[in-house]
Amino acid sequence: MIKSLLVANRGEIACRVIRTARRMGVRTVAVYSDADANALHVRSADEAVHIGPAAARESYLVGERIIAAALTTGAEAIHPGYGFLSENAEFAQAVLDAGLVWVGPKPHSITAMGLKDAAKARMIAAGVPVTPGYLGEDQSAERLQAEADAIGYPVLIKAVAGGGGKGMRRVDAAADFAEALASCRREAASSFGDDRVLIEKYILSPRHIEVQVFGDAHGNVVHLFERDCSLQRRHQKVIEEAPAPGMDEATREAVCAAAVRAAKAVDYEGAGTIEFIADGSEGLRADRIWFMEMNTRLQVEHPVTEEITGVDLVEWQLRVASGEPLPKRQDELSINGWAMEARLYAEDPTRGFLPSIGRVDDFHFPHHHARIDTGVEAGAEISPFYDPMIAKLIVHRPTRTEAVSALRETLDEGIVGPLVTNSGFLWRLLGHAAFEAGVVDTGLIERNLETLATRPEPSREGLALAAMRLAGTPGATPWSSRSGFRMNAAPRRDVRLSDQFGRTFTTELPPEPAFDYWPGEDATTIDEGGERFRVRLARADGGSGGAASDGAILAPMPGKVISVDVSAGQSVTKGQKLMVLEAMKMEHALTAPFDGVVAELNAAPGGQVQVEALLAKIEKGEA
Ligand code: ADP
Ligand code: ADP
Ligand code: MG
Repeated sequence: MIKSLLVANRGEIACRVIRTARRMGVRTVAVYSDADANALHVRSADEAVHIGPAAARESYLVGERIIAAALTTGAEAIHPGYGFLSENAEFAQAVLDAGLVWVGPKPHSITAMGLKDAAKARMIAAGVPVTPGYLGEDQSAERLQAEADAIGYPVLIKAVAGGGGKGMRRVDAAADFAEALASCRREAASSFGDDRVLIEKYILSPRHIEVQVFGDAHGNVVHLFERDCSLQRRHQKVIEEAPAPGMDEATREAVCAAAVRAAKAVDYEGAGTIEFIADGSEGLRADRIWFMEMNTRLQVEHPVTEEITGVDLVEWQLRVASGEPLPKRQDELSINGWAMEARLYAEDPTRGFLPSIGRVDDFHFPHHHARIDTGVEAGAEISPFYDPMIAKLIVHRPTRTEAVSALRETLDEGIVGPLVTNSGFLWRLLGHAAFEAGVVDTGLIERNLETLATRPEPSREGLALAAMRLAGTPGATPWSSRSGFRMNAAPRRDVRLSDQFGRTFTTELPPEPAFDYWPGEDATTIDEGGERFRVRLARADGGSGGAASDGAILAPMPGKVISVDVSAGQSVTKGQKLMVLEAMKMEHALTAPFDGVVAELNAAPGGQVQVEALLAKIEKGEA
């Protein structure tokens, strides 16, 4: 067994890997950029090495620095986590060439699955059903169009080197093909440095089903059943579960056997995921599930599989990398109960899911409901440099219904502030009738975006009552003095409350006691028309939401202005798009926080902006 391990990653996955390594008595080495000097993953490890500036390109993506850090600290092995260098075959080879153990598949297996076209060709040869389409041998626009016409619309154009949901275009009619192709190629060239594409039949009623596989160096491969990741936004997973709703035993056997064949075809070692797309229009059927791609690493959503199988996948990774055989045979693995994971993000669904950057002052989740995988703690910084995921909330219950309500309770009781999060969005999504019934497809979120992404505010009455419960009514009980709030000369007191979405509200305590409450509760719930607001007294200094309430439109992260949709002096309405910023390779619309006038405008298309730069100012009133 390896005795020491360098974790070439950050955030929750670095913490996750370190946790298991420690439990197994393996010494851990973290690496960190300037932005992560105080991060949780650094403090969780036995040792940490600084590897460069905040930008991933200059730190977490610099293979030589990471290998040098392993050599100087005497770490025997490198675990890449997910993202960053995890699917980079050259890096895996360089790790091996340096005499270190690579916790992952052999470089040739990564390469075989790295490009979607080559991977599909390989799978066809191995007898794995693949999504019908054209693999793109001839990349001329004419040929691609002709192939798309032959496949029949809708089709999906995919960058062969794509990943992370980028480089994909759905085309519904022949007339739109040329333009979609050009735009897909531009994005593929800029994101992946490779503009080649393939074309697939766009599967209707699509469900994302994937199978966890595991191989060892002795030629054994097992599967650890399926996950359903159909709840997606822009091809990115939002909620994942295992097993898949509506999967019968025969279909499960067929798809899991296909996954094992796929892994064996590339000599697979370690943890991997075979992703399939299913046409779910008539339930899950073995003849309507096709191979999409393989992810040759540990997956973000691996915890749901761990929960239903009782296997620690990171432990298996470390054992297999050390040359041990798989700890269990296929017939020793089974599904127990239902697990579900929600990805909690620092982003604002009401503003086009714009990342919400800044310090996390409050961070608390009750652990009795859920497993919380996170790299964040109170005082941590969500920086513009990396993925703004705050935590993965994972529940495991005997049934799916119980899992859904446990996950909602977790969201209810969790507190993250003053950042805005997608917690309310997740809460509504989990309560959506189709989802609760297990009727899922990848378009569910998009179709219901308007209701899922709105965020009602608690009523004035609700806030006033909550304030009384939290701050107490002066003089109402003999114990009220304990709270430090006392009736004095002022007839009324303003109380500031913050909710689980990071919003701050001001309410007044009435001059006369209306109810006999005594303070002491930490947080209280306002339950109104199916919405739940979990509120607490806001910190005296907690200046959250300042930007929105005073109308200053600040750049949430460094980036480039793509378009400006308003002009100075123009009247705007709440929610109206002001401009679009491109940052972290994604486009983010900045919108008006309330009805008003564009009093100041400091942005022009093409301009580069710094984080917190004042881009515009909206003032209340009319033009
Ligand atoms: P998962 O199924 O594990 O969520 P994803 O493909 O969504 O897999 O990616 C997992 C992580 O890796 C995410 O943080 C994603 O942003 C990152 N990632 C995946 N592919 C790429 C890529 N080609 N370039 C940059 N980041 C990527
Ligand atoms: P990535 O490497 O970005 O993860 P994938 O090929 O795994 O790319 O596709 C990402 C998502 O796009 C899938 O989870 C699915 O929701 C959707 N998708 C992919 N291929 C198809 C298809 N042929 N038909 C319908 N949806 C698809
Ligand atoms: Mg994928």
